[in-house]
Amino acid sequence: MRVQFIGGVNTVTGSQHLVEINGARILRDCGMSQGRRAEARAMNEHFSFEPGEIDAVALSHAHIDHCGNIPTLARSGFRGAVHATTATALLCDIMLKDSARIQEQDAAYLNQKTNRQGEPPVIPLYTVEDAVRSLRLFKGHRYGESMELAPGARMTFVEAGHILGAALHLFELEEAGRKARIGFAFDLGRKNLPIIRDPDILTGLDLLVLESTYGGRLHADATSADDHLCAAVKRAIGRGGKVLIPSFALERAQEILYHLSTLVSDGRLPELPVYVDSPMAASVTRVFEKCHDYMDADYLSLRSKSGSVMSPPWVRFTASVDESKAVTSSNRPCIVIAGSGMCENGRILHHLKHGIGNPDNLVLIVGFQAGHTLGRRLIEKAPKVRIFGDWFNVRAEVDVLNAFSGHADRNELLEYARAARPAQIALVHGEPDQRLALAEALRASGNTRVIMPEPGDSVEL
Ligand SMILES: [Zn+2]
Repeated sequence: MRVQFIGGVNTVTGSQHLVEINGARILRDCGMSQGRRAEARAMNEHFSFEPGEIDAVALSHAHIDHCGNIPTLARSGFRGAVHATTATALLCDIMLKDSARIQEQDAAYLNQKTNRQGEPPVIPLYTVEDAVRSLRLFKGHRYGESMELAPGARMTFVEAGHILGAALHLFELEEAGRKARIGFAFDLGRKNLPIIRDPDILTGLDLLVLESTYGGRLHADATSADDHLCAAVKRAIGRGGKVLIPSFALERAQEILYHLSTLVSDGRLPELPVYVDSPMAASVTRVFEKCHDYMDADYLSLRSKSGSVMSPPWVRFTASVDESKAVTSSNRPCIVIAGSGMCENGRILHHLKHGIGNPDNLVLIVGFQAGHTLGRRLIEKAPKVRIFGDWFNVRAEVDVLNAFSGHADRNELLEYARAARPAQIALVHGEPDQRLALAEALRASGNTRVIMPEPGDSVEL
């Protein structure tokens, strides 16, 4: 029996691990690789194993870097089941169809380019139809539920504290009289995140496969988000401005709604008009509202106190483009939550175009901003930014709220390893500098067996 590290090993996208036991093959996550177009395309299209020979997929959560290549797997011959929590299965229905639409639009755009004349047409990595077909393979489960995925391979879903439905996986393996316990702890969340419960500790492990996304970095305390958000909103609304919040549709938008609901319920903020201007965020929010049994005690008590956490009367989900335009052109103080999270596309661009030049407004950055994105330029205090081809002076206030990460930071990862006390740790899911920083810190705190595998490496158990 062995674990092979395939994708998302010394990087954070394209997560894939293979567990081999008694001749069976179980794939842990089938994430999409992102990055340079041609390179990512090749990695997503070609698997290092035969998809038809995979017996089952154990899926951790609905982020595209963990689930995004399942449609390609299914299109390439995989016929087994995809085991996930019920919430993850519901979220994947939205995420995979959206990802397929992006693949189709990208291919159509490339095919339109005139300099491609004479070249074969670009085929989408997968289509909406492929995504729909792969969604039929999903089987929903509860946390704590355990099942035999193959003879000698028992797998249990454990709370990850990362996003709604996210699970760590415990594999209990037995082959020819030998036993091994393997824990996959990524994506690993944090204590005290809003809405969801804290991560559970995997113990008694022979091997802990642990993420290292923030192996060398520290976040602000998750509990400080309320105070920061409250002060920022009061400041902007007090001067008659709007608060524009670029946000990812999954989890971050719902976290903002949760914090606003808490602040209103505690009397710290008045009932301000809040517009969720993202059809996808609206769909994801509906899934959250169906999944109360996944929520933590604070969420449930707020819900019993105020009726609805995510869609109280002062929150509007703008469905049509006309409704969105009306919010954009109005000068009434309000809060707008819109995608995309890094301001690269989506309705937030229209709000920024109209609002970025007004010093009364506030652009509140609440998520990671990759290099060379409009969001990153705003954080870096660029005096002018380009939106839809035109230049705009940045006169609005730009504030960064960095208490929102859904990933454990360096200290939280060290604390997790200390509590789990595994015999061996394999670090994955991190850029090389972050992985190395965490490996050194783990060794310094007494973990002698820490490995940093390369893609393709295996550990025999
Ligand atoms: Zn994730």
